Amino acid sequence: MKAVLASNNKHKLVEIKTMLEGKFEDILTLKDLNIDIEIEENGSTFEENSYIKASTIAKMTGMPAIADDSGLCVAVLNGEPNIYSARYAGEPCDDAKNNKKLLDKIHALEKDGPVDRTAYFQSVVVLCYPDGSYISGSGRTYGQIIDEYRGNNGFGYDPLFLSDELGKTFGEAVMDEKNTISHRSRALKDLLTKL
Ligand code: IMP
Repeated sequence: MKAVLASNNKHKLVEIKTMLEGKFEDILTLKDLNIDIEIEENGSTFEENSYIKASTIAKMTGMPAIADDSGLCVAVLNGEPNIYSARYAGEPCDDAKNNKKLLDKIHALEKDGPVDRTAYFQSVVVLCYPDGSYISGSGRTYGQIIDEYRGNNGFGYDPLFLSDELGKTFGEAVMDEKNTISHRSRALKDLLTKL
């Protein structure tokens, strides 16, 4: 089966393509198909947003499409930034501003005493067919939000996310390490078992 990845996020594209190697006959990107589109993510859950992205592209291309919707959920922030992770500090999306806002909020709450910095990344991936039917998979990975930025790999909140399983931040991990335990790899594995 051929499939198209419904994402413009270069980091996600590389991670997902690497993880799906050999599982599909061919994995195309929107760029390969000359599609330039900004899809409005107006769902209220990761699954809804992932479906919106995958179904839009599946209907547009006539090919099965795969989308990921993901984000960071932090205990002391009651699960924020959740589905708003990409645009936490407003639009256009800016990783540096998002990270700063995250730390500012945690520091403000810490003025009253120690806080729970436990966090997890959540991903929901959807494989949608042109007729609108779909399969989804979900995955999580746990860690702690730290104060200093560590590592230049990855994207988004990676330098502040100290992975429980790796003992280093996702910013310090090379892609293969991150892919062994990441929320996205777990969501894709879950999806593949249902295929
Ligand atoms: P989406 O593209 O609408 O699903 O937004 C995902 C956002 O969640 C990204 O822009 C990041 O802020 C955050 N995020 C999701 N996955 C990761 C990851 O693997 N590392 C760091 N940040 C991530």
